[in-house]
Amino acid sequence: MDTITIAKGDGIGPEIMDATLEIIMAAGAQLKIEEIEIGEKVYLDGNTSGISETSWDTIRKNKIFLKAPITTPQGKGYKSLNVTTRKFLGLYANVRPCSSLHPFIKTKHPDMDIVIIRENEEDLYAGIEHQQTDEVMQCLKLISRPGCEKIIRYAFEYAKKYNRKKVTCFTKDNIMKQTDGLFHQVFKEISEEYPDIVNEHWIVDIGAAKMADTPEAFDVIVMPNLYGDIMSDVAAQITGSVGLAGSANIGEECAMFEAIHGSAPRRAGQNLANPSGLLQGAIMMLTHLGQTKVAEKVKNAWLTTIEEGVHTYDIYKDSVSKEKVGTKEFAKAVIDNLGKTPKNLKAVIYEDSSPIRLPRYERKPLAKKELMGVDMFVHWPGFDADEIASKLQELNTGELELTMITNRGIKVWPNGFDETFCTDHWRCRYSATQGSNTEKEHIIDLLKNAFENDIDFIKTEHLYAFDGKPSFSLGQGQ
Ligand code: NAD
Repeated sequence: MDTITIAKGDGIGPEIMDATLEIIMAAGAQLKIEEIEIGEKVYLDGNTSGISETSWDTIRKNKIFLKAPITTPQGKGYKSLNVTTRKFLGLYANVRPCSSLHPFIKTKHPDMDIVIIRENEEDLYAGIEHQQTDEVMQCLKLISRPGCEKIIRYAFEYAKKYNRKKVTCFTKDNIMKQTDGLFHQVFKEISEEYPDIVNEHWIVDIGAAKMADTPEAFDVIVMPNLYGDIMSDVAAQITGSVGLAGSANIGEECAMFEAIHGSAPRRAGQNLANPSGLLQGAIMMLTHLGQTKVAEKVKNAWLTTIEEGVHTYDIYKDSVSKEKVGTKEFAKAVIDNLGKTPKNLKAVIYEDSSPIRLPRYERKPLAKKELMGVDMFVHWPGFDADEIASKLQELNTGELELTMITNRGIKVWPNGFDETFCTDHWRCRYSATQGSNTEKEHIIDLLKNAFENDIDFIKTEHLYAFDGKPSFSLGQGQ
């Protein structure tokens, strides 16, 4: 008997959770269930994280969490509970299988069978955002080597365990050479350890287009957080409905299972929603817990129901469906099919269900780190780059001198174009005059000069070389 935590969430959440639990318990799942309340009501009661301390205690004690979707209220201050849960519990891998069920669910892609493995803890979802000037907001994109190594190794281990032939990586490293560049670099390194699995890399924009058009060309796809979030909704939708896919969020200690879709508030309380996404999450949970035979029974009953043409509104099509049903009737049909195997769709057999365990991350020897200068970001409401450059050149110390100014990344001084539009947010690069290195104390001298000259500096970013390799972006056009 495994004890799990569940939360029924908001919108369609309670209906799809009731249906899911009814099905898996009828199939013989050995579960003791502890329910917590999360989401909209908790947020609106004044808890900006959407979850209470005691609920955290329950989740951490039981380690396995089956979660229905929740509504994050619009407005400032409410943090996404989904993102918080994934990060607090170290659920680094988000596994989202999406396969078509042709000809029983209408899709343009009858042979699609892909698994998206989405990095779950970092990227733009670090949630570190600031308004820096009247006109400019900033969101920090953080990509770490441990984060990349864990998710990419997980993707290859997943492919190995489930006999998948290829792992594809999507990044935008032609533009984000440091962040996405690291993800791609680690992909290259780790793929060498798996010579039996084909590996390939696509730039995310054309990769996304290819996946939406020819998904059968892909098998396992590993991606940074934001691309994975977007692409897994696309992948689920093109199998027939976003309501069909489930997701597993896996960490070293804990795991959370859910549907990939949201709380669909417009469909709530009408017995309309498709419970299949959360049910897929629950099936993944049962295999994770080692209750493989129950998982198999549920999945085969669900496949049978789908091929019988008993469909909720989102997948109902006159040409392929036989009966349009609500959430409860769909659950009843799956329960009636427990013990059956599908006649046309491929029945599942789950064997090895042990969770994938990765080696502990080993910190690499420290690189030689040299300070080469500093980018000082300045709030200045003018438009003329030469004007701000002449003010900023006055700040030059003996050790640091102004070498470049960019605006939204594009070089505007020296030799900028009159056509380039400038905001009130200027990145002013000061480089070491002596050789290529400088010291932090020279940056302090520079900032003192800026302060004394009424320059509104809003942040600085140090320019480092790691093991002799300059590790910062050039200005566009530099
Ligand atoms: P959504 O996924 O809730 O709904 C998008 C559309 O998909 C809906 O209009 C609905 O027609 C359809 N749909 C989704 N699930 C369905 C199902 N099971 N059966 C039938 N149709 C289904 O996305 P949204 O409208 O952008 O977001 C609504 C709320 O959900 C927001 O508050 C958002 O923050 C939240 N959300 C929560 C999660 C989560 O808890 N994991 C994930 C995404 C969005």
